[in-house]
This record gives sequence, C-alpha cells and structure tokens, in this order.
Amino acid sequence: MARKLFVAGNWKMNTSLASAKALVGELVELVGKSDKVDVAICPPFTYLGAVGEMILSSNIALGAQNMFYEDNGAFTGEISSSMLKDVGCKYVILGHSERRHVIGESDELINRKVLKAITDGLAPILCVGELLAEREADQTMEVVRRQVKVGLEGVSVADVLKVTIAYEPVWAIGTGKTASPAQAQEVHAMIRELLGNMYDKNVSDSIRIQYGGSVKASNAAELMGQPDIDGALVGGASLKAGDFAGIVNAE
Ligand code: PEP
Repeated sequence: MARKLFVAGNWKMNTSLASAKALVGELVELVGKSDKVDVAICPPFTYLGAVGEMILSSNIALGAQNMFYEDNGAFTGEISSSMLKDVGCKYVILGHSERRHVIGESDELINRKVLKAITDGLAPILCVGELLAEREADQTMEVVRRQVKVGLEGVSVADVLKVTIAYEPVWAIGTGKTASPAQAQEVHAMIRELLGNMYDKNVSDSIRIQYGGSVKASNAAELMGQPDIDGALVGGASLKAGDFAGIVNAE
C-alpha cells in the first residue's frame, strides 16, 4: 500500500521570534507547495502563533513539541491541547526522547497525552526508540515494543490512524550518528507487524512510521526509500531551510 511520506521538523528549544519568522519565510518559499510529501514544522510554544499565521496559505502544517493531558487549571507551566488547537496546531510530538530521558516522562504519562490529543482532535507523533545501552544489550525490540504498546493503550482501531509513530534511536538523535537504513528498516518492520497484531491489517498497511536521528538531505532518500519508513522527524537539519527542503525533496 502506498503511504504518503511525512516529514516533520522539530525545532526543539531553538530560534527567536525573529529567526523563527525568517526560517518560516524561507520554508514557505521552498516547500510551501509540497504535495508529494506531507510537511509539518514544530516550533517552540511561544512562536506557534506567529509561525502559524505565516503558513496559513501554504501546505505546511503546524505542530507542537509537547502538551499536557488536562484541559486547564492549576498546572503551572503546562499547555493544553485546546490551546494548541487555538493557535492552529494539527500535530503534537509526544514522548520525544528528550522528554523521556531529560524530563523523565514515563510511557504511562505519554499514553495519557496521546489519548487526550486524539480526543481533542490533534494528531500525535508518538516517538519511540532505544538507548545505546539498550541496543548494545540486545533489548531494542523489547524496549520499542513496550513503548508502542503502552503509548497506544486504549487507542481504538478507529483512532489509531490519526497517530504517526516516529522511531528515533536515542543514540542517533543530535549525535550525527544515523541508524543504517537496514537497522532502521528492521525496527520499522517490527513496529508495523506489532500494529498489525494489536489492530488489523489495514492499520499496519496504512499507519505512517517516521525515522528520526540525524536525518540529512544526504541520507534521507536511502532511509525513506526503505519499505517501512514513511518519512522523517528531523531535529538539527530542520533549522536550516535549505537542509530541511533537501530532506522533503529527497528522492
Ligand atoms: C529529533 O529531535 O527528533 C531528532 C531526530 O533530532 P536530530 O535530527 O537532530 O537527530
């Protein structure tokens, strides 16, 4: 089954208002009319409104890097799904490795966020991936399987296709080390088979699984050419319009 590639840029805690606007201006020029590939950008919370306005009449979608699972109330420092919808977000990255391993988010917490995002009409990008020590201890499949299963607990067959899975080996994020296309494909194939077992064949055929971890224009085509890799979640290279466009247009 042909799945449309999906490339998303995770700006992390980078840019200023001025540099965010400059970057988006260039991106609209370079990839704003993309129709072969779905494109999203995920700026910091504080710039979502300004960036969202600039991409309104383009094919670039807006995403956030995180959210909380409550509607509102005494949750200092948190942002709700309705706030993200208010400023035009379509996607939300959940369970990014920096949130799992720097901030300490658990699979259970991430699952609550996934359920809330879906309920409120946001499309989650659920990140999974093993640490270097886990890969070296031959635990990659077990770790990723657990993250997918717990992350999607309670998500119905009707809703699961709203989710994109991003396989991001932690040792490849921001390190310049990329999983080889074969290493990535092996994990993607496992995830797809798992989703077939958890749901059904339509889900495993249709759900998009991005790869993330030092993706650049020079390695994107080979990675995204693997049978079970349906695009990329891009960190560092999403901060330069030309580099990000090179990934979106990679073939
Ligand atoms: C990411 O932040 O999701 C990521 C993959 O980062 P990088 O592309 O910089 O490795």
